[in-house]
Parts: sequence; C-alpha cells; structure tokens
Amino acid sequence: MAELPAAVTAALAGAARPVCAYVYSRAALRERAAAVRAALPAGWTLLYAVKANGHPDVVRTLARECDGLEVASGGELALARAAGARRIVFGGPAKTDAELRAAVDAGALVNVESAHELRRLAWAAAGRGVTAGVRVNRAAAGPSGSHTMTGTPTPFGVDEAQLPAVLAEARGLGVDVSGFHLHAVSNNLSGAAHAAFVAGAVAWSVATAAAHGVRLRYVNAGGGLGVDHRSTATIDLGELRAGLARVAVPPGVDVVLEPGRLLAADAGWYAAEVLDLKRTHGRWFAVLRGGTHHFRLPAAWGYDHPFTVVPVDDWPHPYPRPEVTGVEVDAVGELCTPRDVLCRAARVDRLRAGDVLVFARTGAYGYDISHHRFLRHPEPEFLVV
Ligand SMILES: *Cc1c(COP(=O)(O)O)cnc(C)c1O
Repeated sequence: MAELPAAVTAALAGAARPVCAYVYSRAALRERAAAVRAALPAGWTLLYAVKANGHPDVVRTLARECDGLEVASGGELALARAAGARRIVFGGPAKTDAELRAAVDAGALVNVESAHELRRLAWAAAGRGVTAGVRVNRAAAGPSGSHTMTGTPTPFGVDEAQLPAVLAEARGLGVDVSGFHLHAVSNNLSGAAHAAFVAGAVAWSVATAAAHGVRLRYVNAGGGLGVDHRSTATIDLGELRAGLARVAVPPGVDVVLEPGRLLAADAGWYAAEVLDLKRTHGRWFAVLRGGTHHFRLPAAWGYDHPFTVVPVDDWPHPYPRPEVTGVEVDAVGELCTPRDVLCRAARVDRLRAGDVLVFARTGAYGYDISHHRFLRHPEPEFLVV
C-alpha cells in the first residue's frame, strides 16, 4: 500500500479515541478528476456517479471538478442540487413517481429504464416537454469487470429487442429521446478494453438512432473505470486516452462518462483502532472499533482489504498493553458475528492494542454501500403492532 499522505496522518492524530473514522481528501479528489478529464477527448462530458461516495463535501468538490453529477435516487438528486451541480443525470431502475417529478423539476436528464417508467415520466412531466435518455441492455455481452450489467439478464435498462417499441411509444407520448445510456460494467481494469467498449457504445448508438429515427445528441457510456482494492493498481488512463482519441463521434453528439469508483476510491481512508488482540484455536485476531457495518466492500465482494498499521505510542492505561510481532492476524470488527471480517491472515511486523489500522482506497463504495446509506434512499418505516 502507498504511504499515507501527511494530511491524513495529521487528521487521524486529532481523531477521538478509540479511533473510528473515514478521512476524505479534497486534494486527492481534485487530482484524480483532473487525471480522468485528461484521458477524455476535448468536448466530452465527465460526470461523477454520486453512488460511490455521497458525503456532501465529496459531492460538492466533484460537482465543481466534473461537468456534473449522475444520481440514482431522490436522496442523491437532493444532494446534487445542494452541491450546485451544473448538470444532473438521473438513472436507476427503481424510480418512484415523486423522484421522477423531482428530476423533471430539477431539469435533470432522466435515463428511462423500462416502458413503464417511460409512461410514468411522461405523466410526471404533465405536459411539459421532457427529454430523456433510454438505458439499454444490449444484446451483445459487455466488457469484463466485477459486475456486468448488459448482454445478460439484469434489472437495468430496456432489453435491446424491446427498444423499437419503447422508442415508438416515446414518440406517441411526446418524450424527446436524445440518446442512450449504456453503462455496462463495474471495475474494468483494462484501459484498452474500456476504450473499445466506449467506441462500440458510440457506434451502436449512431446505428440504432439512424435505424429508429432518433435524432442522436447523447451517448452515455456510464462508469466502470476500475481500481483494484487489493493493490495500488488502477485502470491505465494512458491506454484509455489513446483508445478514446480514436473514437469517431458525429457532430452534435455529447459523449458522457460517469465514473464513481475511480474518482473517489483513492480519496478515502477508513481508520479503526485495535481494541483487543487475542489468539483462539491458533489464530490471531485484531478486534477493531469499527467493521463491516462501516466498510462493507470486503464482505460484499469476498476479498481481504489490505491495511497499514499506524503505531500509536501513547498508552495511558495502568494495565499491560497487548502486543504481537511477526504474526498473521485477522482484522475483525465489533459486530457479534463471525462474518465481520475486513482482512484475513495479514502479516504484521508489530501490532499493539491502541494502534490504528488504516484501510486505503475506501473513498468509493466504503461507507456509502454500508447498507443504511446505500443511494441515500429513505429508511423503511417501522410499524409496531
Ligand atoms: C454505479 C454506476 C456508475 C458508476 O460506476 P463506477 O463503477 O463506480 O464507475 C455509473 N453509472 C451508473 C448508471 C451506475 O449505476
């Protein structure tokens, strides 16, 4: 893992004890946004997918550094408006009527995900002219990554075979379809493969628009630019830039990329203090103030997330300090379930109770997918009878 930036170490030194904190860096967000922007041809649009990290300061910073924001719920839409986003695109397959109305009121571009949603959007617009993108689950398989959302049965988008009927219905309803949304993959680590996917998305959109009488102005290739959470590897932006530079885009067509993970992952660190160190049945456990309820990704994806030990020399207690040297430990959380594990069998040179484990690359899909906050949807009601 890379060295911790000095500002992160300093912030943690001032954190309440026992330490349990996310540290987010605006400078790291700005730097990464500039690097991603530099990989896109001039005139393309870069949005930030708020799902990756909806902390208001993160959203505000990236609203400024990118051209706008991609949101997937009413909660995220409200965040995007509060952040002063210049442009908002609203996707996701489970939009409520209230969310559709709020999107129309906010002037957001809705990516319609089904025929039913198209009808509800036309109704929510209530006679106001409305422009929409149509999200399509294409017939062909998407690129490879951690999740694939196209070329396979998923809840996302309109099946390509049903697209002609949906476009005809849009015309009947007075919904102006400006183009297509083709987000297809999560965490693609190949820059060349991702550029090829984007090129294919543009070519497919041009051909499909021509075949069905759509005046094409919008091609959204989604997100999916990858980082390897187990190492410091990311998608190669040089390779991506070289590939994207060759994509033929007809005049008047706005090509949009809306990454989340790549923009936010390296701007976040999750820190958790070691409360106890113990050995049972021959295995060492570092028990943390924190766990998978704050940082769910390793449990959700079934991998070990590496950490750095930040030694804390101060030990104000009268009782002896637990310490291990040169052993493998499981970093486990404070929840009373054996599944609350962030990293298994990690080698540590020295670890003491009171030291802090810092998990880098947790700025994306860290706290935000730790379920109560996922997409900032409202909480369920609790009906006690
Ligand atoms: C999740 C999502 C994104 C962002 O994906 P990343 O893998 O974080 O880049 C973009 N668009 C849509 C529609 C999404 O659902």
